[in-house]
Amino acid sequence: MIEILHKDLLARIARFNTKSGVVHTPTFIPVVHPTRELIPPRKMFQEFNCQIIITNAYLLSKAKCEGKIHDILDFPGSIMTDSGAYQLLTYGDVQITPTQIIRFQEEIETDIAVILDIPTGGNATYSEAEFTVEETLKRANDLFLKRSESKILWVGPIQGGTYPNLVEKSARIISQLGFSIYAIGSPTQLMEQYQFNKLVELVLAAKRHLPSNKPVHLFGAGHPLIFPLIVALGCDMFDSAAYALFARHDRILSPEGTYRLADIQDGFCNCATCSRYTVSEMKKLEKNMRVQVLAEHNLRVCQDEISRIKLAIREGRLWRMVESRLASHPALVDAMYSLQSYRPFFEKFSPVTKKRALYITSPWSLYQPEVYRHKKRMERFSPPEPERTTLLLFSAPQNGPYHLAKEYIRFQSQYQALKTESSEPFDTVFVSSIFGLVPTEITNLYPLAQNLVPQSDLFEIDSVIIEQLGGYLARLQRYTRIIGIFGKSSKWQSFTRKCRRLLSKLGRDFRLFTTDFSKASLKSIVSKSFLER
Ligand SMILES: [Zn+2]
Repeated sequence: MIEILHKDLLARIARFNTKSGVVHTPTFIPVVHPTRELIPPRKMFQEFNCQIIITNAYLLSKAKCEGKIHDILDFPGSIMTDSGAYQLLTYGDVQITPTQIIRFQEEIETDIAVILDIPTGGNATYSEAEFTVEETLKRANDLFLKRSESKILWVGPIQGGTYPNLVEKSARIISQLGFSIYAIGSPTQLMEQYQFNKLVELVLAAKRHLPSNKPVHLFGAGHPLIFPLIVALGCDMFDSAAYALFARHDRILSPEGTYRLADIQDGFCNCATCSRYTVSEMKKLEKNMRVQVLAEHNLRVCQDEISRIKLAIREGRLWRMVESRLASHPALVDAMYSLQSYRPFFEKFSPVTKKRALYITSPWSLYQPEVYRHKKRMERFSPPEPERTTLLLFSAPQNGPYHLAKEYIRFQSQYQALKTESSEPFDTVFVSSIFGLVPTEITNLYPLAQNLVPQSDLFEIDSVIIEQLGGYLARLQRYTRIIGIFGKSSKWQSFTRKCRRLLSKLGRDFRLFTTDFSKASLKSIVSKSFLER
């Protein structure tokens, strides 16, 4: 169903066919009002590179529109129609039955159609939410009895709102029904209230149970500042009316946030629309014209953001893009924070290797699946034969490859010069503030050697690494002697203290040095009896 070309995090660059053409994802789908459009759909197709638009089938049927949807809207690309569920959520009632809206969407020959689901909304009680899930599933089942043969791609809506177990149930059951596309419902209120952490929960509860070969749509995605996040969560397509809604209120969009037209000055934007008018000219336009011009600018901002997201996916840098948007709103930080709990899921779907180095620029970078993957790998890692009883822990430099670090090379050359036949061989594990324990055998694996970390001492060696070391030594009881050679900075001094406490507690023999070790101290490591104090 969907042909996947590139992947990063849960995002994918992919394509699928509708009867009117190819849809390239991820894609933003502009909402077009069926009778009061701001930008002519043909212009959207020709000048704004919109391959797909969405309109409301319920409003069209109420307006007694007839004929083919592509003629009504004058749009040559793919058209998705919504069923009136949004009106149901807003007004509590619609004057159409589920069967009538199926029939109507078939008559107008839409490309992608939605059943008349019951949206849960953000404020539903548990039992209300349960009802919306059950009723939507019943209507989803009915579709397959009632639809006529056609080439329409039907969308299976997932409900459950802010109750993850209901969302999971809804996704699990509907994914068995053979819809062409799955859509996650009810995010609008969460978006309006900036509850992006709940949005993460909602999307991932659904995603975990959906087949990976079908596109996933998110209803009502709002502002472009959250586009990178929702694509990273695996939403292939999402509709948004923000470009028009904000324009009607004299608001101008940017990927980082929204500005009032009154507050901006000439030179704000150089897009094709803004190069036709200066900001001062825009402010003087009569209302309708001004709204249209602002809508055009806003639409370009949304489309440009999608292009940047696609580039980030191809380059394997989507995490960086999501991270770079955090400064736009504190609620995005909450969303990022909530991603912690989903690291195993992200890790499962993220590519094992990438052509670009892993960037570590903030504490959020440590949540990346690559970092998590390494720590999981270490839970199973067994050092190669022969089994040794001495373990050397060496502080890793900021950037890899660790075995090429200046201090480590100095240690190696002095050790080689001093060692004798009776010297005990040992295994080596680097201690990194980013990745934790890194055995010397795997320092070349991605991204252990392919990463860029700031030189400043931004990252503490946290207690998680001491815990990891404790687990490693508990699993590998044979390491009865531990040599630690750590940096001199205060963070390494603090680590050395914690390490000493741990090793005493575990009852292991140990010697801890700093990287400016003297020849004499090295001699004591080399001599077999170094621990016989
Ligand atoms: Zn512009």
